[in-house]
Amino acid sequence: MTTLTKEEDSPAPAGSGTFLSVRDLYVHFSTEDGIVKAVDGLSFDLERGQTLGIVGESGSGKSVTNLSILGLHDPRNTEVSGEILLDGQELTGAAERTMEKLRGNKMAMIFQDALTALSPYYTVGRQIAEPYRKHMGVSKHEARQRAIEMLTKVGIPNPKLRVDDYPHQFSGGMRQRAMIAMSLVCNPDLLIADEPTTALDVTVQAQILDLLKDLQQEFGSAIVLITHDLGVVANTADDLLVMYAGRAVERGSVQEVLRAPQHPYTWGLLGSMPRLSSDVNEALTPIPGTPPSLLAPPSGCPFHPRCAFVADVDGVSCSDTRPALPDGRGAACHLTAEQKQTIFVEQIKPRLG
Ligand code: SF4
Repeated sequence: MTTLTKEEDSPAPAGSGTFLSVRDLYVHFSTEDGIVKAVDGLSFDLERGQTLGIVGESGSGKSVTNLSILGLHDPRNTEVSGEILLDGQELTGAAERTMEKLRGNKMAMIFQDALTALSPYYTVGRQIAEPYRKHMGVSKHEARQRAIEMLTKVGIPNPKLRVDDYPHQFSGGMRQRAMIAMSLVCNPDLLIADEPTTALDVTVQAQILDLLKDLQQEFGSAIVLITHDLGVVANTADDLLVMYAGRAVERGSVQEVLRAPQHPYTWGLLGSMPRLSSDVNEALTPIPGTPPSLLAPPSGCPFHPRCAFVADVDGVSCSDTRPALPDGRGAACHLTAEQKQTIFVEQIKPRLG
C-alpha cells in the first residue's frame, strides 16, 4: 500500500518497502518578477507496484514536482530543496551524470503529447531501441528485437513491420502506446505519467490506462500518475494526493477521497467534473475565481480567496493561519471533522449525485 506522510516525518527506514520518498520538497523559480514558489513543502511516499495519483489544476505544482524527481529543471534559475530518495538514493543535488543514468533506466516518464515527445526523424523502433542499447550495452540487433517485443507488449499490430514506421505513420493512440513502450523498455522501477491520456479520445484513453495497469503488474513499477481529471485516477491509482498552490491539501486512498472528500477544493474539483448520471444540458459548476499567483501566494490557507466555507470556521482565521495536513488520511482545512462531514453530506453530495 502506498503510504503518504506529512512534511515533518523522518525518512522511511530501509526495508520498509518505500521506493520513492519525497520529504519537505520546495521548488522555487527565479524570474524577473520575483520568486515563483511552484512547490512549497510537499511530502509523500510510494511503494513498488503501487500507483499514486496527483491531481490539481494547472499551476498546482504537480508537474513541477515530477520534473524535480527526474532532475529536469534548469539549475540556473531553479532552487530545489528537501529530500527526494529513490530506492534510498538522494536525488536532490545529484550530479547530472547520475541523473542521466537513472533516467530511462531506473525511472522514466510518459508525456502528454507523444507527437512532440517522439522525434519525427527516427523510426519508432529506433527510438525504443536506443535507450535500451545505451543503458543495457546490448548489440543493435538485440535492441531491435527488444523494440519489437515491447511493441508487441503494448499491443501494436504487426510489430515486426511497424517497428520501421515513423511516428507520423502511427495513429494518436498507437503513438502513445509506442511512447509507453519506450518508457518501459529498460524496465524502470518508477514511471511518471504526466497527463498520459489527455490528448486521446475516451475509448483510447481507457485502453491506455488498462495497458498501464497490466504493464505495472508485469513489471512491478511504481507509478506517479499526474492528471487534472479525477476520473482518470478513479480506476487506476491506489492513493491520491490533491495539490493546490504547490501544497498537498488532501490525501488518502482513492476510494476514501472519492467517496468522502474532505477539502473544499476537492469538492470543487468533483463538482466541476461531468458525470454519467447528469443531464447533458446540466451546467458544470466551476470553482469560482482563478488559481493564485505563485509569486505572491495568499497568506494562511492558499484556497481562502476561492473558498465558500470560510465563514463556517470558528476561532481561527483562514486568511492568516495555514492549516496543516494531518498524518495519513486527511485534509489541510480548519473546518472540524464534523463540519466537513455535515457540509459534504448536506450540501456537496446531493450536487454530485
Ligand atoms: Fe476553506 Fe478555510 Fe478550509 Fe481553507 S481552511 S479550505 S479557506 S474552510
